[in-house]
Amino acid sequence: MRAAIYRGPGEITVEEVSKPEIESPTDAIVRVTHTAVCGSDLWFYRGESDREEGSPVGHEPMGIVEAVGEDVRSVDPGDRVFAPFKISCGRCEFCRKGLHTSCANGDSWGGDNGGAQGEFVRATEADGTLVRVPDRHADDEATLEAVLPLTDVMGTGHHAAVSAGVGKGDTCVVVGDGAVGLCGVLAARRLGAERIVAMGHHEDRLELAESFGATETVAARGDEAVERARELTYGGPTHVMECVGAASAMDSAIDLCRPGGTVGYVGVPHGVDDAGLDVFSLFQDNVTLRGGVAPVRAYAEELLADVLQGTLDPSPIFTKTVDLDGVPEGYRAMDEREAIKVLVKVEH
Ligand SMILES: [Zn+2]
Ligand SMILES: [Zn+2]
Repeated sequence: MRAAIYRGPGEITVEEVSKPEIESPTDAIVRVTHTAVCGSDLWFYRGESDREEGSPVGHEPMGIVEAVGEDVRSVDPGDRVFAPFKISCGRCEFCRKGLHTSCANGDSWGGDNGGAQGEFVRATEADGTLVRVPDRHADDEATLEAVLPLTDVMGTGHHAAVSAGVGKGDTCVVVGDGAVGLCGVLAARRLGAERIVAMGHHEDRLELAESFGATETVAARGDEAVERARELTYGGPTHVMECVGAASAMDSAIDLCRPGGTVGYVGVPHGVDDAGLDVFSLFQDNVTLRGGVAPVRAYAEELLADVLQGTLDPSPIFTKTVDLDGVPEGYRAMDEREAIKVLVKVEH
């Protein structure tokens, strides 16, 4: 089969690799039809985080089940499924708590499972990991493109909103106008927030944030952005969603949070270990920091129901579509901020 492989910073190639096969009774093989390039893929692409050269990439698979191991009960060959960015069993202590990202039997995509930016993956723990799309929606292209973000960014944006305690009538600020921040706006609106201030650096992305439900936008940087967001929210919001992960975004989020408020953080921490986290500013205003890597499997059914009902549609985050051979171009376009998020349609 063909799959995208990491060959070093700035270098993704599409190569012929061996196709994954059923190895254990809980495995399923999925023929990937749709996948995506993630903002978090850019960290290794830019050489800012380590990744083994020669490793398959991609962690947002959707496709058709091709084969299942003898213990798999929840899906059959021919089913349309998607999977979160982490494999989870659904039955261990952590999965039962809704913390699928800490699954005792969990795994990541890549390695010998195959990366999701390839023709096939092996889902170990298929019953816990794969989410079935009902047959009547299984071949509707527009619906599938709206479902695909549930593999990662939509679930992650939702986790930011839930972690920040966003509810009916609330005012919140979303820090970050990438795919996760934009999905965070959708999530806050879905949870009933009345005022949603989106903060970012890109006019076009902030326009999309408005169409997703942001009531105000702030397109400034650093202290000026914090000042502006504070003004708009009469001294800072009680609910801040940090959707970037960079140390500067985390600082802004904590800085602008109203005393006694909560910062829900979901961005993969980046550079925070150099700068350090200013615990004192949390301390002096009783600001709570909640969140972490999003257990998107826990939210999949709930969000899928809304997508299928037509009340939730994150698909406008895909501003560029490529085929499997176009994956290297997809990385480039995201790296150069030409695309918010790249959809990959895998032809077979
Ligand atoms: Zn991702
Ligand atoms: Zn588990």
